[in-house]
Amino acid sequence: MTFASSTPLIQHYINGRVVASTSGRQQDVFNPATGAVSAKVVLGNVEEVNAAVAAASAAAPAWADTAPLKRARVMFKFRELMEQNHDALAAAITREHGKVFSDAKGEVTRGLEIIEFACGIPQLLKTQFTDNIGGGIDNWNLRQPLGVTAGITPFNFPVMVPLWMAPLAIATGNTFVLKPSERDPSPSLMMAELLQQAGLPDGVFNVVQGDKLAVDALLQHPDVKAVSFVGSTPIAETIYQQGAKRSGAYPLRVQALGGAKNHLVVMPDADLEQAVDALMGAAYGSAGERCMAISVAVAVGNVADKLINALIPRIKSLKIKNGMEPDAEMGPLVSAAHKDKIEGYIASGIESGAKLLVDGRGLKVAGLEHGFFLGGTLFDQVTPDMKIYREEIFGPVLCIVRVPDFAAAVELINRHEFGNGVSLFTSDGNTAREFSRRIEVGMVGINVPIPVPMAWHSFGGWKRSLFGDAHAYGEEGIRFYTRYKSIMQRWPQSISKGAEFTMPVAK
Ligand code: NAD
Repeated sequence: MTFASSTPLIQHYINGRVVASTSGRQQDVFNPATGAVSAKVVLGNVEEVNAAVAAASAAAPAWADTAPLKRARVMFKFRELMEQNHDALAAAITREHGKVFSDAKGEVTRGLEIIEFACGIPQLLKTQFTDNIGGGIDNWNLRQPLGVTAGITPFNFPVMVPLWMAPLAIATGNTFVLKPSERDPSPSLMMAELLQQAGLPDGVFNVVQGDKLAVDALLQHPDVKAVSFVGSTPIAETIYQQGAKRSGAYPLRVQALGGAKNHLVVMPDADLEQAVDALMGAAYGSAGERCMAISVAVAVGNVADKLINALIPRIKSLKIKNGMEPDAEMGPLVSAAHKDKIEGYIASGIESGAKLLVDGRGLKVAGLEHGFFLGGTLFDQVTPDMKIYREEIFGPVLCIVRVPDFAAAVELINRHEFGNGVSLFTSDGNTAREFSRRIEVGMVGINVPIPVPMAWHSFGGWKRSLFGDAHAYGEEGIRFYTRYKSIMQRWPQSISKGAEFTMPVAK
C-alpha cells in the first residue's frame, strides 16, 4: 500500500490522523548510506504532547470497556497488515537506520511475534478465582488497564522496540502515545496507519515526534500512567528517577531499559568455527548497533590466538555496502556524529594500550563517499580498566579480553556495570549449567550469540541495563500494563448479624 504519512516532512499522528506540527522545530533525517538528507521530522512541543495525551485520554474509557476478544481481533488484523507491508517497513528501516535489508526484515518479524502474542490477550488476562474462602465469600482478581501509557524508543529498532510495547499496552485495554527516535521516525507513522486500518479506534495509538522536550512533557503529564523507555543508560536512569519523583494521585509506573556491554565467552572446549561465526554476526551485524550485540570476546585459556587468526580475515572481508544491496553484510552507522563518537573510542583504545588488530577507520565505499561507513574493528589485549571495555561503544568494534579460566570469565562479567545479554560457547553441559546459574546478566545464551527472548519470554537486562521491576513484553509486559485488583464478595444470605471487631479470618 502507499502510506499517506510518507512525506518529506514527517509529522505527528494524533487521534487517527496525521497532524501538522506548529512548533517551528524540525530536524534532518538522513539516509546513512548516502549521507544525504532524506526527510525532515518535526519536533513536538508541550501543546502537541498535550493534544496527543488528550486524544489518548478521551479514547481510554471506551477502549478499556471493549471486550478483550474484540481487542484481539484488531491485533489479528494488524498482524496481517504488517505482514503484507513487511518489505515496505523493512525498506523504511534501511533507508533511515542503515542496517541491511534482510536484517531489517528480521527486525519486523521479531516485532510481529509480539503482535502474535498480543492476539492471545483473552487468555492472558485470565486471573485467579477462589471459591468460598469461608462464610459464603469468594475472592478473585482483575487485571485492569492503567489508562494512558507512553513509549519512548531508540533509533536502533524503529519497528521492533515500539512493538515490544504498543501491542501489549493496547491489547490490555490501555491507550498509547509513542515518542519514537527522531533519527528514524517514518516506521512509527506507517504502523499508526496500519493500526487504524486494522480497526483501532481513533486516539488509542498516537505518535508524537520529538526530542527531550516531548519526553519531559510526557513524563510530567498527570494523565500518563506508565512509561516504557528503551535507550541509553544515562537517559533510562533519569527517566526512572523523574518517574519516581512525580507526585499526584497516580505515581508514574516506569520500566526503563538501558545500554549494554555484552560478552561472549569462548571456552577451550568450544567449537571454534562456530564461535567465530557467532562473533562475526553478533559483533558486526547491524554495525554493532544492537543492545544485544556482542562487543567483548572473552577468550579463556589458550583460545585467543586461534580466535584472532580466524577473525582477522573474516573482518577484513566483510561486505560493507548500502544495506539495500542484496549481498551486504553490514551497512553504515546511523549518523555522522555517531561515527565520530565510535572513532573517538578507537583512538581511546589505542591510547590506553589495547592492540588494534583491524582498524575500520577510513573506509570508503565506492559511490557512497558521503555515507557514514566504518569498517569492522578488532582490539586485542583489552583490560577491564580501559574505557573501550567499560563503556558501551555501540558500533562495529570487538574487544578481546584474555582470561586464564572459567572462574575469571564469570568474575569479569559479573563485575561489569551492565548486565543485558551474555553468551557462552562450550561443549560441556556442566560448564553451561554453572554459567547460567552464576552469571549476573538478564539474558543468557548457551552456544547462542544473541539470546533475545521470544515474545512470551520477557526481555530485560540486570544491573544498569534496566531500571524498574518489569521486563519488556511477555508476561512481565502484561503485568506492567495492568493494575492488579483483588475482589471479595458475598451476598446477603451469607452475612450473619452483628458487627465484628476482630481481624476477619476464614470461617
Ligand atoms: P538514546 O538514549 O539517545 O535515545 C532514546 C530515546 O530517548 C529517543 O527517543 C530520544 O529522543 C530520547 N532522548 C534522548 N535524549 C534524551 C534526553 N536527554 N531526555 C529525554 N529523552 C531523551 O538512545 P539511542 O541512541 O536512540 O539508542 C541506542 C541506545 O539504546 C543504546 O544505549 C542501546 O544499548 C540502547 N538500547 C537498549 C535496549 C534494551 O533493550 N536494553 C534496546 C535497544 C537499544
